[in-house]
Parts: sequence; structure tokens; C-alpha cells
Amino acid sequence: MFVVVSVVVYFTAIRPTVMPKAEHVIVIDAGHGGKDGGAVGKTSGVSESELNLAFSKKLKKICQSFGFDVVLTRSDMEGLYSPTADNKKKSEMEKRRKIIEKSGADLVVSIHMNSFPSSAACGAQVYYADGSVSGQALAESVQNSLYSGIENSKKTAKVGDFYVLNCTDKPSILVECGFLSNPEEEALLQDESYQEKFCYNLFCGILQFYNFNK
Ligand SMILES: [Zn+2]
Repeated sequence: MFVVVSVVVYFTAIRPTVMPKAEHVIVIDAGHGGKDGGAVGKTSGVSESELNLAFSKKLKKICQSFGFDVVLTRSDMEGLYSPTADNKKKSEMEKRRKIIEKSGADLVVSIHMNSFPSSAACGAQVYYADGSVSGQALAESVQNSLYSGIENSKKTAKVGDFYVLNCTDKPSILVECGFLSNPEEEALLQDESYQEKFCYNLFCGILQFYNFNK
């Protein structure tokens, strides 16, 4: 309850000064899809691609309610690769890049779930492309917001070598929302109210980035 109240208070407090212009476009990229399900929940067997999509859709709704245009790279469980492509991973990544280019995006947020051999690993981690000043600023803003609102979140954003970060000059981040190899986090990541809270905190980080870069 406290968290819900504090989120509402937070939004009420910052909303008047940071309402973005309607022309802002955010690409939300749900990782994986189709035959590539990504990581798998150790206890429930839930697929990462399914959760990535659930988080992406929730984040989209929040962004739109604050006047942003949103482009999803995928809005269903189908893969983005061409069915006839020999190299499906390459085909899929090319498609993501084309969607980002065509969107006229201000920024890109790619959503993933993590996994690690040890079940103790937990917490949300935000990545940005090495050398991207704006990507780093966005990543730090989102990581700070997650750290303050989501339990176990990491404190510091990290450099990550991911195609979706390297394929664009726009500020781009990849958010590993939590670990499907950690049973507690696996359960939380499937909880709708947790997804909602997580996406609000992620969005607060995006708003702060816009506010500092106006
Ligand atoms: Zn992934």
C-alpha cells in the first residue's frame, strides 16, 4: 500500500513540470519471441518471451497515458525473424533494427528477464552501449528509479554488448527485470501488480531522463 501511495504522490509531484511533448516516440522492445523463448522459469516453466511481452504492454500503457507515442517491436508471441531465414537470430535482430529506424524513436527500451546458474542471483539490472553518453544517462536514470522503488534492484547501470543497444544512435537501454532462476523473483515477475509497479518505476526513470535532457 505504501508503495502504491508513494508512486501516486511521486507522479502528482512531478507531472506538471515534465509532461513530454506528444511527438516523443519510445520504442519498447520485448526480447525474444517465436521459437526463441529466452530464459525459462525454474519453478513454473514460464518463458521469458511471454513475460517480456507482458512487461512491454504494461509499460506501453503507462507511457501512452503520459502522452508518449509508443512503438512495440512485437505485440504477440510470434518471432520477428523471417520464417524462411537460414539465420533466424540475425533475421530477427535486423527486423528489430528496422522497426527502431522507421519509428523515429527518441529512445529505445528493451525488456528481458535474466537467468543464472546460482538461484541466489537476483535484482533488476539496466545496460547501455559502451560509449553512448545519452544511453548511459538514460540507463542511470532508470537504474536509480528501480533501485529506489524495486527491492533487490542493482544500484549501478552497466555497459552491455547487445545488438539492440549497438544498432541505434538513439539512447537505448536493455532492462533485465529480474532472474527467472531465482524462485522468489520468478514468482514476483509473474505477478501483475508487481509488473505494474516495476513498469511505473521504469517509466519514472524515463521521465527523469527527459526532464534532465530538455
Ligand atoms: Zn533475454
